[in-house]
Amino acid sequence: MAAKIIDGKEISAAVKEQVRAEIERDKLSVGLAVVIVGDDPASRVYVNNKKKACELCGIKSYEYALPENTSEEQLLELVDTLNSDKNVNGILVQLPLPGHLNEKKVIERISPEKDVDAFHESNVGRIMIGNYAFLPCTPAGCMELIHSTGVEVAGKECVVIGRSNIVGKPMAMLLLHENGTVTVCHSKTKNLAEVCRRADILIAAVGRANFVTGDMIKEGAVVIDVGINRLDNGKLCGDVKFDEAVEKAGYITPVPGGVGPMTIAMLMKNTVTAWRIQNEKH
Ligand code: NAD
Repeated sequence: MAAKIIDGKEISAAVKEQVRAEIERDKLSVGLAVVIVGDDPASRVYVNNKKKACELCGIKSYEYALPENTSEEQLLELVDTLNSDKNVNGILVQLPLPGHLNEKKVIERISPEKDVDAFHESNVGRIMIGNYAFLPCTPAGCMELIHSTGVEVAGKECVVIGRSNIVGKPMAMLLLHENGTVTVCHSKTKNLAEVCRRADILIAAVGRANFVTGDMIKEGAVVIDVGINRLDNGKLCGDVKFDEAVEKAGYITPVPGGVGPMTIAMLMKNTVTAWRIQNEKH
């Protein structure tokens, strides 16, 4: 039987509506600064989508579009200014940055209380020990999608393909926090297909089109496809070969319309959380 499609658009719309309603109910004045350096077209699309989501939720967005040749000093200065700006509750520096800028240095300069991407070392550390304020948006969005299926994570075999700091590793940690039995696979993993076939919950975050084929999927599994790959014909496609996977999985996310919109919805949620952290200190 074909898998149920997990509708990321619908679920993300519900999350954004919750955020909007919360902001309206509590009359919050929430602001998000989005910094983009250079003119990478994919980054521009992401930034525009984030701004649109802010508008929908009633969050003020402040865009800082800097030229490609911005120096590290200039960028760090802007981060310092935003760190001390009371109207700015969240700071997001769109990655990747041009090669001459040190991403790590820039991220570490963002105040952890405004780090709505949860990329700062102190926020990453807090995720590790399960005492977090923000969750990184993409893994948090994946968890929401898994929850929407009603499938319990506790006790399940969970396989994450990919070990990046922004997706794979935190994803594994969140599944572990919910008592999944987690295996993290990567480019050096042996017998990948065999490992994947064990998964009740399979997360693909590789960045390779159609990498996960139907024979790698256990019958009835929850399959979350994080990949965003652009094909030669301009179409977007995930890491999972959808046509094959949909015949094996129990639940599956499409690309587009799965994890992508959730990432942005979770960013909105984190921005309100940031407002509360900054304004409701005891
Ligand atoms: P990355 O390149 O940093 O990491 C890819 C991971 O895949 C690495 O850990 C690597 O070990 C693993 N890998 C590579 N080849 C492999 C192989 N042959 N077998 C097993 N593992 C292999 O990428 P990332 O930043 O984690 O992103 C992964 C994908 O998710 C990309 O397509 C990216 O565009 C997408 N992404 C989507 C969202 C979203 O909002 N939907 C957010 C972030 C990233």
